[in-house]
Amino acid sequence: RIGAMVIPISSGNTKRQITMMKDLGSTAIACTPSYSLYMAEVAEEMGFDPKEDFNLRLGLFGAEAWSDEMRKSIEERWGIVAHEHYGLTEIIGPGVVSECKEKKLHINADHFLPEIIDPETGEPLEPGEEGELVFTTLTKEAFPAIRFRTRDLAVYYEEPCECGRTLPIQSRIKGRSDDMMKVKGVIVFPSQIEAALLKVPGLSENYQLVKEKKGSMVTLSVEVEVTEERYKEGKLDELEKKAEEEIYAILNLKVPVKVLPPKTIPRSTGKAKRVIERKV
Ligand SMILES: [Zn+2]
Repeated sequence: RIGAMVIPISSGNTKRQITMMKDLGSTAIACTPSYSLYMAEVAEEMGFDPKEDFNLRLGLFGAEAWSDEMRKSIEERWGIVAHEHYGLTEIIGPGVVSECKEKKLHINADHFLPEIIDPETGEPLEPGEEGELVFTTLTKEAFPAIRFRTRDLAVYYEEPCECGRTLPIQSRIKGRSDDMMKVKGVIVFPSQIEAALLKVPGLSENYQLVKEKKGSMVTLSVEVEVTEERYKEGKLDELEKKAEEEIYAILNLKVPVKVLPPKTIPRSTGKAKRVIERKV
């Protein structure tokens, strides 16, 4: 018994979600990180202050690769502690990996046997090396999964944690091997771009990477929304320059950035679409 009640309202109809959260005094929320920020946006439109007007204290976020900068921005916006949560529909859904108070991601290895492999060759890697996570279910009945390849890239560790748990640890998910892009020979993950953008005050966490194909050439650019307050000041080209510098500092790659007015990039109630393709 943990004395908690679950309010299963699924996704969609954001205003209703917020009304329920307010009326029932929800203290914890579980959703994708990008959706929690969209909820904050809608709550503000409804006249609420996300930090002051709700009882929320904890968030469990998953199903998307998100940066530490994004975590900070969720924690500040809602005034909560944000924890990562990892699971896969094919294995069980949520519950495969959860974060302790030390913000370490413990794999529930008594139920899910983890392996880390080289995504290209399929060969097993050593603890401490970055590779693709693979899980085998140990206790699931009727629908077991054997060496299920997740396409998620992370580092696997076996080391004691301050929290006292002895379960193995995985790093935060860097991205899906499907999301990995190679631009001018440099490997790029959307979460790296996100980390760079959120280092620039005035830029929001609403962004997308635009891949354009000209024949066999692929070019990459970034579109990101400015915050409402910063939008009023104008001079958006200064922000573009700063964002390009931050990206260069992380990737050593020049990626053009275009700053857009607030609320111009489509929102999602599930996983945010971070990479779009345009044909030229
Ligand atoms: Zn721990």
